[in-house]
Amino acid sequence: MTPRNVRALTARTSNAAATRALASEVAAIVRAGDIIVLAGDLGTGKTVWVQGFAHGLGVDEQVTSPTFTLVRPYRGRTLTLLHADMYRLDRLSEMADLGLLEELDGRAVACIEWGDLAAPILPADLLEVRLEHGDGDDERTLTFRAVGAGWARRMDELARAVSPWLAAG
Ligand code: ADP
Ligand code: MG
Repeated sequence: MTPRNVRALTARTSNAAATRALASEVAAIVRAGDIIVLAGDLGTGKTVWVQGFAHGLGVDEQVTSPTFTLVRPYRGRTLTLLHADMYRLDRLSEMADLGLLEELDGRAVACIEWGDLAAPILPADLLEVRLEHGDGDDERTLTFRAVGAGWARRMDELARAVSPWLAAG
């Protein structure tokens, strides 16, 4: 298989700081309109990932779990981060009502925790990051999957961005 056909990548981190650093590197390659879906059980590090990603975008504010608001905007250097959490959402229409996707047309990128639950209302082009527990308490496996042609074309660039943490093989 040639590298250009790779649609999935696996990385490993050994603590929360490493997940933040990795996410910050991914933030360096995103563009306006990008959607990143964060999947994985409670406590695997989805919010930690968004914190690092926000840092990479130049967000000064502290990113917290968007418990009471569904979507929270954070202004970065050139891009605004829209942080959403679908965990408490029982009606996907609520999400659509909030106009998240319309805002993306501007200068924003979205990180959507539990975004795999929102798949039916999301565009067909996105990057999924699935976080899972590894062997040790602080170890995590992150699987990046390109959904749609746009991200599939960018997997080489993504691989370079996360190369310090790429799993062998
Ligand atoms: P989620 O949003 O997926 O429910 P959080 O990001 O809120 O999870 O919490 C993840 C917890 O796991 C934090 O307490 C964090 O410090 C801890 N942690 C330990 N190791 C890691 C790691 N390698 N990556 C991310 N978080 C980690
Ligand atoms: Mg969370």
